[in-house]
Amino acid sequence: MSELSLTPKKSMPPVHLSDLSLKERKLKCEELGLPGFRADQVSRHWYGHLSNDNTSWTDMSRADIETISEALLPQLLREVRTLDCDGGMTRKTVWRLHDNSLVESVLMRYTDRVTMCISSQAGCGMACPFCATGQAGLTRNLSAAEIFEQVRAGAQAMKHDEIAGGEGRISNIVFMGMGEPLANYNRVITAIHRIVKPVPEGLGISARNVTVSTVGLVPRIYDLAKEGMPLRLAISLHAPDDELRDTLVPINLQYKVSEVLDAAWHYSETVKRRVSIEYAMIRDVNDQAFRAEMLARLLVGKDVHVNLIPLNPTEGSDWTASRKSDEQKFVEILERFNIPVTIRDTRGREIDGACGQLAAKEVNVQ
Ligand code: SAH
Repeated sequence: MSELSLTPKKSMPPVHLSDLSLKERKLKCEELGLPGFRADQVSRHWYGHLSNDNTSWTDMSRADIETISEALLPQLLREVRTLDCDGGMTRKTVWRLHDNSLVESVLMRYTDRVTMCISSQAGCGMACPFCATGQAGLTRNLSAAEIFEQVRAGAQAMKHDEIAGGEGRISNIVFMGMGEPLANYNRVITAIHRIVKPVPEGLGISARNVTVSTVGLVPRIYDLAKEGMPLRLAISLHAPDDELRDTLVPINLQYKVSEVLDAAWHYSETVKRRVSIEYAMIRDVNDQAFRAEMLARLLVGKDVHVNLIPLNPTEGSDWTASRKSDEQKFVEILERFNIPVTIRDTRGREIDGACGQLAAKEVNVQ
């Protein structure tokens, strides 16, 4: 399959229904010489019934279906491959975009929820040295529809009983796939509108169950607080001190720990939501007791929750996950300061689908 080794041309895709609000879809239909209510009908099929098989759209004339499909429903995501693990409850999908860029999404089924981890960019420009995506750099931003269609594909897989555990729905979305969501701000917000607005505008997933995870692009965190949506915010902190964070999360050279946390507290007070602090536990790098205490002092008394992520291995890095004993000590110190802390159950490691492992390696596979 030499097709897969083509280099991306790095161009944005054609416009798609999911780039547009319902109002814009109506205008588009009118521009195409169709009645505006066709927008409503096609949207009910697309977002309500999750049906992209237009032969079942019996409420519309064939000619109109063809006009709309041609103008507004280009196929944006082509499945390159899917990898399942956890007895079929975790599925990673590698998607090829129209310009041959590759991105990945991961669907994870738990007893009480179904979470989709989606990508907002092809590659990532943030260059965190422990993250596989960061190593290859940024290819390009995804369009709103390219972001959203990952969710729709997952919702469709759940509806069609393709995931172990039976038919179901996606309940949670996390922007923890490839890319820095706040570096592609406007398109990510548009995609979130499609995710949270009810049918026929979008999928109707609760905004409270949508998590935006960021390295800490401070001005964009303030913007996010103004969006009027109760989204969850996760900050990838990984170190409590600027000296270490400058090396682990290079954007820290621009926005310091204190500025990132001030923005996070502003977010939590404005939106009235607890903020998550993500902390990848890297053996002998950021997992010492003194750093746990430093972290605790920064967070004490705030509406916050700490998620410790055992470092997932990535190619070419010598870093590894913390010893269990150090991890335990870290937890104890945070708990001593009454800071809620959990250790993330890292799903999908064996299929390179866990945090920081998404690299769309298939470019090199024949
Ligand atoms: N760019 C965003 C979202 C993508 S990464 C961000 O940085 O928040 C999602 C989470 O996985 C981030 O907290 C990220 O720092 C973390 N992560 C990256 N590489 C990892 C690795 N090798 N092991 C564990 N977590 C990792």
